[in-house]
Amino acid sequence: MNTQLLKPTTEGINEAARLLRDGQLVAVPTETVYGLAADALNPKAVASIFTAKDRPMDNPLIVHIADIADWTPLVKGIPHNARRLAEAYWPGPLTIILPAADHIPNEVRGGLSTVAVRFPSDPVAQAVILHSGCPLAAPSANRSGSPSPTNAARVMEDMQGRIAAVLDGGDSAVGVESTVVSLCGDKPRLLRPGGITPEMLEEVLGPIEIDEAVTHALKKGATAASPGMKYKHYAPKAQVRLVKGTAAAYIDYVNAHADDGVAALCFDEDIPHLRVPCVSYGHRDNPLEQAHRLFDALRQLDELGAKTVYAASPRPQGVGLAVYNRLIRAAAFDIINTIRVIGLTGPTGAGKSCVADVFREAGVPIVDADRVARQVTEPNTDCLKALCAAFGDDILHTDGSLDRKTLAKRAFATPETAALLNSITHPAIMAAIKQQLEDLADAGHPLAVLDAPLLYEAGADALCDRILAVTAPTEMRLSRIMVRDGIDRDAALLRMNAQPDDAFYTRDGVTVLVNDTTTEALIEKAKAIIADEIRRCC
Ligand code: AMP
Ligand code: MG
Repeated sequence: MNTQLLKPTTEGINEAARLLRDGQLVAVPTETVYGLAADALNPKAVASIFTAKDRPMDNPLIVHIADIADWTPLVKGIPHNARRLAEAYWPGPLTIILPAADHIPNEVRGGLSTVAVRFPSDPVAQAVILHSGCPLAAPSANRSGSPSPTNAARVMEDMQGRIAAVLDGGDSAVGVESTVVSLCGDKPRLLRPGGITPEMLEEVLGPIEIDEAVTHALKKGATAASPGMKYKHYAPKAQVRLVKGTAAAYIDYVNAHADDGVAALCFDEDIPHLRVPCVSYGHRDNPLEQAHRLFDALRQLDELGAKTVYAASPRPQGVGLAVYNRLIRAAAFDIINTIRVIGLTGPTGAGKSCVADVFREAGVPIVDADRVARQVTEPNTDCLKALCAAFGDDILHTDGSLDRKTLAKRAFATPETAALLNSITHPAIMAAIKQQLEDLADAGHPLAVLDAPLLYEAGADALCDRILAVTAPTEMRLSRIMVRDGIDRDAALLRMNAQPDDAFYTRDGVTVLVNDTTTEALIEKAKAIIADEIRRCC
């Protein structure tokens, strides 16, 4: 098949409309990315989209209309909030999912009972829809898995010979696919971020839920609310690794890994400092520009022949959330976090909290591992469910919260049950700590403290660039614990003896702060360390 390149003139638009009415495929420009369009009510034409793209059949398509009135026949009904949302942001980069009318072909719905509809703002897209007289099913006009095309030449790279025509309408203004929101459940749910931000949705809808798949890999065995989110996506041929952290840490990391085949997907400001081939996707503080340039930048990296690409991570806020969502999939969720982590540990009563306070006062964020441990066992968490499965449902109070005493009795009964407990809680705690450290890196913190009495036991020492252990002579710890917890000497001794000895904490390479004189002296030692750390990385 010879793929025609049509101009966005009256003739070009008429020809595109004629081909579409005839059941053929035409790539059309929209303000998000180029769409591969077919008559949405012609099942054969829709099926050929999947063949041309090599797209899995369970991945549903968005139906495009050019008049709000054309929405009514596609769905079972339009609730009030859906109408208000459409009135606020249509025409524009927003897709709304509602229960589908019975005649919507199964191919369009990807086997679901719902249908996604959008009214694009691009005048050429609108003209094609109006002239063809049919709603158009149109996924992005790329081969499945590769970056979406944002101009006609990129469509041709993927679709030459596979479709009837490409209508050239210049560069796509937004550059990433539409925001997808489902209004089928109790609460509005964001399934895919795009040009319409979560804040903009909430202005009209009130609080919305953000699907876990927006920022995270789908858990094994989970079903995707938005089927497209389960596939590796938007990826160039090179292996992409997403680097989180400050600009300085990103540059240091890339330069330290400069090697044959390594390239950087960076921000404009980084270019003069990087010693590898670079492709920029915009300025660091300009998410609109990043969205506009990202997909073309990913394709340029292939043209450079890059094997490994270190990508600077965007701030996942506003439109930046859409940029982050695409990039993290292009990277198949491979994240490198460059934030410098200081692990803070030591036995009870030695003065660890006092050191943590000094860091806090210096503006260094603290990740509190004890707090994380409580959070991962809050009601309805996966970790709590796993604990119930292992130790019985009666480890819960009647309100669904964890009864720690009953769990402790069972879990510490034998070394095997204790190991079982740790095998459930430690991975959950580690994942939550990693997430908090990533969020801190996203927020621009170069340095964080991980306050963890069980740093080694949970394996969290592996996350640390430096470890501080606070220890103190036994007698001093005893009297501190007695005062702090209001208990007698025997009880304090019992508590102390349940913990490992000093040697356990003071391993090779660990900075030991011995708290054997006054609190003021300990604070002075801590301050000196902080000054040194801040000099290093800020
Ligand atoms: P694309 O047009 O290639 O950007 O893909 C459209 C995406 O919209 C799909 O991959 C889905 O993730 C999402 N989508 C479309 N229809 C539905 C639906 N009925 N329910 C949930 N997600 C949908
Ligand atoms: Mg797509």
